[in-house]
Amino acid sequence: MSQVPADAAARRAVTPVICYPNDTLPAPDLARYRATREAAAKVSEVVVAPREAACFRVDAGQFFRITSVEGPQVGDLNLWNAHDLSERFYSGKTRALHGTHVTTGERLWSSFPHLRPMATIIADTLGWYGIDEFGGSVHDVIGTRCDPYTGNLLSGVQYHHCCHSNLTRAVADELGLSLAKVEPHVHDVLNVFMCTGFTRDTGQYFMKASPVRPGDHLEFFAEIDLLGALSACPGGDCSAEHTSDSAACFPLLVEVFAPAEGALGDWQSPPRNGYDRSHGR
Ligand SMILES: [Zn+2]
Repeated sequence: MSQVPADAAARRAVTPVICYPNDTLPAPDLARYRATREAAAKVSEVVVAPREAACFRVDAGQFFRITSVEGPQVGDLNLWNAHDLSERFYSGKTRALHGTHVTTGERLWSSFPHLRPMATIIADTLGWYGIDEFGGSVHDVIGTRCDPYTGNLLSGVQYHHCCHSNLTRAVADELGLSLAKVEPHVHDVLNVFMCTGFTRDTGQYFMKASPVRPGDHLEFFAEIDLLGALSACPGGDCSAEHTSDSAACFPLLVEVFAPAEGALGDWQSPPRNGYDRSHGR
């Protein structure tokens, strides 16, 4: 135990400041996105089987919707630039910019050196949930993804349907690459519909039964051409445990919608980040 200084209370009482005030972030034109969505037509869909993952593709300017069907289920989402796997969803920076959980009007940002919006949330039927008395909220960017390595570390198990493995297999099939080639591209996720937080007393990551019900959905506008992969987590609604076959699991539906011709007007994909990458040399 460290020595408590005489002014400990005063040091703790210092008012926090927001690390990244986000009022200078380029704001999405939600009104335009929503007007465009009203006249958009469905072009494809994929049903993600329980304890498996599936890939989907969304062109820049299109929309994709993830819907709970049949029963409460959380999903682990990965996104890449469809033409460049080095540009992928950056959950840590998205968390730093928007907070621990995301909802309508917030964006999923891409990795360095690209750092631009990949997708913008335009609808969230669980937006009403807010932050509960435990500090829990929905759609987090704080978890990583359930994975067999942590399962082995903690319990010595060999389990093959963690989201990490599901995503790896789905992307390997989609791209015709080996599991070994694909695995390094799988990254920390957006936990769609998952209800999580950090305990106040120990600061530990917690989960609780997701409030999602069949029909609930989270919908995105694709800012760039996207390859997506979604895993229907083996934890089901994540009320008890994952990394096993014990939870009730349900499918997830992903639908893609294309705008009417010319509906987006002069809209263009956001440019890659403007930093010159000289790093001072
Ligand atoms: Zn999972």
